[in-house]
Amino acid sequence: MQETIYALATAAGRAGVAVIRISGNKSAEALASFGLKPLPSPRVATLSKLYSGKILLDDALVIWFPAPHSFTGEDIAELHTHGGRAVINAILEHLSGIKGLRSAEAGEFSRRAFENGKMDLTQAEGLADLVEAETEAQRKQALRQMEGGLLDLYEEFRSSLIEILAHLEAYIDFPDEDIPPNTAKEMQKEVENLKNKIEKHLANSSGEILREGLHAAIIGAPNVGKSSIMNWLAKRDIAIVSSLAGTTRDVIEARLDIGGFPLTLSDTAGLRESSDEIESEGIKRALFRAENADLKICVFDANLYPELDKSTLDLVDENSLVILNKSDLSPALPSSPEIAGREAIAISATTGKNMEKLLEKMQEELANRMEFSAEPVVTRQRHRAGLNECLEYLEKFLTENKDIELQAEDLRRAAQALGKLTGRIDVEDILDKIFSSFCIGK
Ligand code: GDP
Repeated sequence: MQETIYALATAAGRAGVAVIRISGNKSAEALASFGLKPLPSPRVATLSKLYSGKILLDDALVIWFPAPHSFTGEDIAELHTHGGRAVINAILEHLSGIKGLRSAEAGEFSRRAFENGKMDLTQAEGLADLVEAETEAQRKQALRQMEGGLLDLYEEFRSSLIEILAHLEAYIDFPDEDIPPNTAKEMQKEVENLKNKIEKHLANSSGEILREGLHAAIIGAPNVGKSSIMNWLAKRDIAIVSSLAGTTRDVIEARLDIGGFPLTLSDTAGLRESSDEIESEGIKRALFRAENADLKICVFDANLYPELDKSTLDLVDENSLVILNKSDLSPALPSSPEIAGREAIAISATTGKNMEKLLEKMQEELANRMEFSAEPVVTRQRHRAGLNECLEYLEKFLTENKDIELQAEDLRRAAQALGKLTGRIDVEDILDKIFSSFCIGK
């Protein structure tokens, strides 16, 4: 029998309401210990006074979810209390005094839901992603996975494999019969079909990119307005704006939501020759960021156009947005300026001119790389590894000429690799890894 667990399910800290969850066969006893007798009607929010002995702890909404109709599949009680720290502490303290109850470990509620067949591993990952989602596109992707998008796809792959395997095994059971050449060809074709489908699914990496977000770096000479652009995009003053050259010495980062896509934007030290040790280190870091960024925002001073800063110019490539800042000070700019053969956007971080256009361009660049896909997509390295393992066995089946038992073994292994993705078979070893990344109370 599993122990009964409890945890604060909402974020710690002061809030209007806090939710404390209790799961396990002692949940009813826990409710009774607060003076709640009889139990509230199942799944009906019931306003109740919670006592510890004679002391009133809070006036709370209590919901009772008897097994199996609950998140974990076990008896669950939810206490929606007032969200003050002392209220939460008093209730947790009371629960800790009940024999057979203990506080939950990270991810333990979800793990129990998995173990009780309430969701598979990809759905559990989708749930974790939904809790972490910072942008609209991430939310959509996580929700689709949580609702079973990947589960359905991987189960479809697996059941088509099992069907082929069943065919093959029929011949193993009748060793006197050879597989008719037509049937063998048919099987070969079906395995090839499946292999193609999996390869196509793997070729789309937009899901992983969307989950992790992209990195962009703002680069340019000192004083061109990099920090001002950063602040405008981040809608707050996070970088120091100063007319003194060389003020941004380290890399400053902000997490942004650009039209639903997650972006980590870095403001970097201005590129120039410097004898200052700290500034030189900053410039080294700026160049490193530029090299590793998915998108470079290369900023030039519009006043100097068409004379451009050489160090920045050297960094412009196909992953760059080219910007001419301070265009408010240079009315003589051509109407469609170009830099290194790319369209340059003439903006002003001070007046806001064309800043919306810069945002639009950034959004376009991000959407190209992580467009929300119509199909469920791979969102983790774990999926990629499992699918590649499956492909290896399919490849073996297709290319190695061997007897039918060994061929069947290849298909079995391929199906197992898919099963590991959803957790439908032998997964104990990967469970800890997945659920330990959850937060407590989830
Ligand atoms: P960084 O060194 O490249 O980060 O540049 P800053 O953002 O610190 O800006 C340097 C100076 O240029 C500051 O005095 C800003 O107020 C000014 N500045 C930035 N952008 C513009 C702009 O578009 N127009 C004008 N007129 N001044 C700007």
